[in-house]
Amino acid sequence: MRAAVFYEVGKPLVVENVELGSPRAGEVLVRIAATGVCHSDLHYIKGDLTMPLPVVLGHEAAGVVEGLGPGVDSVKIGDHVVLLFAPACDHCRYCTSGRPHLCEMRFRVRGKMPDGTSRLRAGGRELNHFSCVSSWAEQAVVPASGVLPIGRDVPFSIAALLGCAVTTGVGAVVNTARVPPGSTVAVFGLGGVGLNVVQGARIAGAVQIIGVDVLAHRLEAARRFGATHTVNAKSDDPVKAIRDLTGGGADFAFEVIGRAATVRQAVDCVSRGGVAVAVGLPPTREELTVPGPSFVLDEKTLRACFYGSSRLRFDIPRLLALYDAGRLMLDELVTAAFPLDRVNEAVATLDRGDGLRSILQMAAN
Ligand SMILES: [Zn+2]
Ligand SMILES: [Zn+2]
Repeated sequence: MRAAVFYEVGKPLVVENVELGSPRAGEVLVRIAATGVCHSDLHYIKGDLTMPLPVVLGHEAAGVVEGLGPGVDSVKIGDHVVLLFAPACDHCRYCTSGRPHLCEMRFRVRGKMPDGTSRLRAGGRELNHFSCVSSWAEQAVVPASGVLPIGRDVPFSIAALLGCAVTTGVGAVVNTARVPPGSTVAVFGLGGVGLNVVQGARIAGAVQIIGVDVLAHRLEAARRFGATHTVNAKSDDPVKAIRDLTGGGADFAFEVIGRAATVRQAVDCVSRGGVAVAVGLPPTREELTVPGPSFVLDEKTLRACFYGSSRLRFDIPRLLALYDAGRLMLDELVTAAFPLDRVNEAVATLDRGDGLRSILQMAAN
C-alpha cells in the first residue's frame, strides 16, 4: 500500500510503497477513506514534539474494515468505522473507573502495536505506528478497541473528524469542564479543535462565547459556529477584552493552541472561581505557569483536557446524533481535501493557518 512516511524533522514526508503486515490476534485491517490533518501531527513534523522515527503519521480517520485478526468479533468486514487514537484495554484502573481515554495502553505502545511489534515496513526497514492509527496511508492495522462502527450514511470526511477534532473540542466543554447553561466562555485558538470548543459551548447553552485568534477568517468562522464576540489578539489585548465583555472575567476559558503564553492568558481572563482548560498540546519542555498569589486568592482552576475526556464509544454516537439533528456543524469544517500524494501541501496549508480543517481523501464519500 501507499503511505506517507515521516523520516526526518524539517524534511517533506515521503509518499511511497509500504508493506503492511496482516492483522494479528485482536487487530483489524482498515481501508482508510478519509483522514484529517491535525496540529498534533504538525507538532511532530516540525520537531516541537518528538517520537521514534521513521513513522506513518495520521490519527484522525475513518474507513472500512477489510480484514480481521483472530478473536475479533466487535466489528465485521465491510463495517464503516471511526479510528480512535486512544485504544482502551477495558481492565486497567482507568478503564474500570470510567476514564478509558487515560488507558495505560496508550503509554505502553509508543510507536508500536499493543503487542510491542510493528506491522509497517518500507525499504527493508521497520516503521513506527502513531498512536495505533497511522492513517496517512491507504490502509492501517489497528487494535480492535481502536475502531468504532458507525452508520453507512455518514460521509467519511465527517466521520474522520470525529476521531479527533470534534470529540476533543466538544468534549472539552461538556466532559472536561462541564460548562453549565448560562455560562460565559472564552476560546483561544479557532482552528479545527477550537471551533468545536465554540460549538460545544453553544450546544451547552453558554450565553457569551468569545473567540480569540490572530486570523480574521477564523474569527469570522467562529461567528458562524456560535461565537457571540471575537477578539483579534494581533490588535487587541484578549485578557482585557474578555474581562470587559464579561464584566470581570469569563466563567471558563479554553486554550486550544498549546502555548504557555496563551494558557497564561486563559488563566488571567477567567473570573474568581473560574476554570481555564488547556486543550492544545504544548511542545516538549514548555512549562505552564500561573500567577502565584492571585491564582490562590481568586480560587482559580487550571486543568488539562486530553481527547475531550471522552468515553469514545458513548460520546461519538451522541455527537453523530447532534450532527443528524442539525446542531453540530461538521460539513462546514472541511475546507480542503487532498489526495494522499499531496500530503505535504495539506500540511503546509495547516501550518499557514489557511482554511479550517483539511483532510486527505482516499476514496469518494
Ligand atoms: Zn488531532
Ligand atoms: Zn485500560
